[in-house]
Amino acid sequence: MLLDVRNLSVEYVTPKGPAYAVNDVSFSLKKGGRLGLVGESGSGKSTTVLALMRLLRGGRIEADGIDLDGRELTGLSDPAYRKLRFADMAMVPQGAMSSLNPVLRISEQMGDIFDDHGVRHGRSERRAILGDLLERVGLSANVQDRYPHELSGGMKQRVCIAMAIALGPDLILADEPTSALDVMVQKQVLATLGRVQRELGAGILLIGHDMALMAHFVDDLGVMYAGRLVETGPVRRLFAKPRHPYTKMLIDSLPSFERRGTFKGIPGVGPSLLTQLEGCPFHPRCPMATDICRSKRPDPRPVDAEEPRHLAACHLAEELS
Ligand code: SF4
Ligand code: MG
Repeated sequence: MLLDVRNLSVEYVTPKGPAYAVNDVSFSLKKGGRLGLVGESGSGKSTTVLALMRLLRGGRIEADGIDLDGRELTGLSDPAYRKLRFADMAMVPQGAMSSLNPVLRISEQMGDIFDDHGVRHGRSERRAILGDLLERVGLSANVQDRYPHELSGGMKQRVCIAMAIALGPDLILADEPTSALDVMVQKQVLATLGRVQRELGAGILLIGHDMALMAHFVDDLGVMYAGRLVETGPVRRLFAKPRHPYTKMLIDSLPSFERRGTFKGIPGVGPSLLTQLEGCPFHPRCPMATDICRSKRPDPRPVDAEEPRHLAACHLAEELS
């Protein structure tokens, strides 16, 4: 197993009291595998990724375990974590526009990754290495001489992918890497991300809004709601036989032709993160809710006789048609 996360929770202190952004989330990803996390904004997807990278501002992270390739990360010191970033796990951030420094040439920003990890190169060697990285993501080598404002959105996102793979990480975390781009460019950039991930043999955790785009990319899918993972399993099983009403509503809300289209969400609003709702967090929006749903929280459990890895957190999973 490449990544095994057990009961990850993230709590923020706010003036109105604690906010429960992520609650007891558990998932795993095998070496070279592709796992997607979908959910509405505020469902805790980005927070989960930032917690794994230990790049959260102010949130308190708790976990029974975060195992990366046999290494337990929860007890690691901050300096050890800094070494791990890029080298073992790297992130392609949401919105390359804001993550690149506007006053530095691409070569400087990419070079910093090597410098920060104590990798020294001679001048021409460094140039060749950066050029090679850029070519691997479909850019020309001399893009390194440019400033971010001289590049299109898609090119900037490709630069971010090149940076993420610079040190050959085992795990890539991608937070809506294509959400700011138009549809054609999205597909091309995602295809590039998938290709470099396969070439590296890295695993990828992809966060996204677009259920359909996601379904074509990942092997396994996790659906998040109110900071909880409500359904997980092989993406084909989830689409063929969703076992959580929320997942089913998301799939049903996609345009029916080839089930393509963007994540529209469903009627109603998610619960405030400031309250830990009693019972199932989805019950105020769930058409199937009964008394037990309002009093007892459902834990993720196997719900699919043909696929033991298919889990759902719903009391009535078996009754979903
Ligand atoms: Fe709906 Fe109840 Fe299942 Fe929650 S546990 S999703 S409220 S049926
Ligand atoms: Mg987000």
